[in-house]
Amino acid sequence: MPDYSNFKVALYFTTRCISNFDSVESLRRGFDFFDKHLNCSKVYLETHRDDMDMSREQLEAMKQFFLGKGIAVSGAITTTLMKTTLSKPLRNETGVYGSGGTIFGSQAEPVEEGYKRSCTTLCYTNEEELLKLEDMVRFSASVFDEVIIDDFFFTNCTCPSCIKAKGERSWADFRLQLMTDVSENVVMRAAKAVNPKVNMIIKFPDWYEAYQETGYNPETQAGIFDEIYTGTETRDSNHSAQSLPRYGSYSLMRWLEKLKPGHNAGGWIDSLGSTPHISYFLEQAYLTLFAKGRELTLFCYSWLIDTVQIPALGHELGRLDQVLGAAGNPVGLSAYEPFHARGEDHLYDHLGMAGFALEPAPQFPDSSGLVFISASGAQDPDIMNKLSNHLLNGSDVCITSGFLREMQGKGIEELTSARYTGRKACSNEFVSEGSAFSGSYWSGSSLLLPVIEYMSNAGDCLVALKKENHWAPVLLRNKYGNGTVYVLTVPDDYVELYQYPAEVLTIMRQHLMGDLKIYLECGGKISVFLYDNDTFILESFADGEAKVKVHVSGNGRNLVDVRTGDVLPVFYGRPNESVFEVEVQPLLYRVFKLV
Ligand SMILES: [Zn+2]
Repeated sequence: MPDYSNFKVALYFTTRCISNFDSVESLRRGFDFFDKHLNCSKVYLETHRDDMDMSREQLEAMKQFFLGKGIAVSGAITTTLMKTTLSKPLRNETGVYGSGGTIFGSQAEPVEEGYKRSCTTLCYTNEEELLKLEDMVRFSASVFDEVIIDDFFFTNCTCPSCIKAKGERSWADFRLQLMTDVSENVVMRAAKAVNPKVNMIIKFPDWYEAYQETGYNPETQAGIFDEIYTGTETRDSNHSAQSLPRYGSYSLMRWLEKLKPGHNAGGWIDSLGSTPHISYFLEQAYLTLFAKGRELTLFCYSWLIDTVQIPALGHELGRLDQVLGAAGNPVGLSAYEPFHARGEDHLYDHLGMAGFALEPAPQFPDSSGLVFISASGAQDPDIMNKLSNHLLNGSDVCITSGFLREMQGKGIEELTSARYTGRKACSNEFVSEGSAFSGSYWSGSSLLLPVIEYMSNAGDCLVALKKENHWAPVLLRNKYGNGTVYVLTVPDDYVELYQYPAEVLTIMRQHLMGDLKIYLECGGKISVFLYDNDTFILESFADGEAKVKVHVSGNGRNLVDVRTGDVLPVFYGRPNESVFEVEVQPLLYRVFKLV
């Protein structure tokens, strides 16, 4: 199968995958399945996970097999151990737990005494476990010139030793420092001592909102490690305890690319939960690559062999490769998500799935253009200066109701008369535009929104939720300096954004996406991915077919369907814009170029 032009694909082998091979012939038979359907140009071979360590002989034999096929070989470590658990009288949890499997009851062979700890990560204040980590790293770096560390490289340990080491600090502060020290002084020092040219990669997990609590520290670790990697396995949001919006497979790639430009080595997906929903598996791959991921890692061999996922993915990757080259560099509205911050978790992902093109970043943008600030932005102690300077320089900001709540009494009064009241409004009628509302739009069900108050005539209410003779602002606008402040009211349950009437979402996009010179006229659950060369991709997360009107600035524009080469006629034109109508279906993204 020919190489892909726009990305590479890697296959991951856990220790359990590797231990299943009893000969090179059995490896050849297994790998043939992947080889038939995909162009796999790299494999990651795990040296340690839970209670399993691979031998040098096993790894060398596999390495030779893949190098003989012209496939690159890298190492991988999963920093977990097997732990036994104590049982409670009325709930039998006795067993041996690891990240790669759980053995309950009488079959459990106790490996060591302990208690059940989520994911069985290491205790990084335990000397014995630190030495074990050092051994894993030394061994891996002695076999491979590149090693990736899977996203269990965190700590949730609350043992007496960790409590003592933490002292008066919060768990987040303690663990952020602890894992920085371990990264620098244990992992990197051991790796480079054994193999100075080894390329060490840290994979960041898909749960960015919780990084600080468990010690993932992108602010320091991106510099300590040679490269970073992105967990884009958002899986089936309906059946996952993590509650990750599917757009996260795109947005985290972009946030981490901004963290270490040119060194976000790829995105990583798995098939968990995608047996009844194969489209979710494929979609993870699309979104990783829409975000311009350089490599797509498939986790893992044992989960994916002889499945329907691989032939389907192979087919779709070939098709995507045909059109992805047309897309330039991703662009969008800046969405500021500072390091170690939380608040309105994953709101940007929901906005992304409601048709806003976003470009998340850990730094406040130094460029012009509208910047989104959600509640997490309140944890930047200098946020008010950054916002006012941005506005004085002539750019716009959109703050959410969550940010407004966090900053009330802390300077936000300088920028807007809007106030977070703590009251709620519940209705299904929306109104819009002007001092005498002209539009009236209906949602299929009643929505619950926080009530924001503002001073009449100190600004404009562009959209409101209405009930009887009362209304609550949904989008407010006022000038500040040379820029504009928008206040966006966010429903308590972010998924209710998708239930906003199409007209309301369209008005919101019309105002907020002005700098991008494009917006969608449609309901929620449709995303637009924008690129810096007048190219964009439409992807639907809805259940059925939908019609989308794409508004672009400029009269007399033409829209080309990149896959077919068909030129779409203008649906209608106005003096300053051209409007196109296109159909989208779930999973069947479309790539367009404006000419
Ligand atoms: Zn501990």
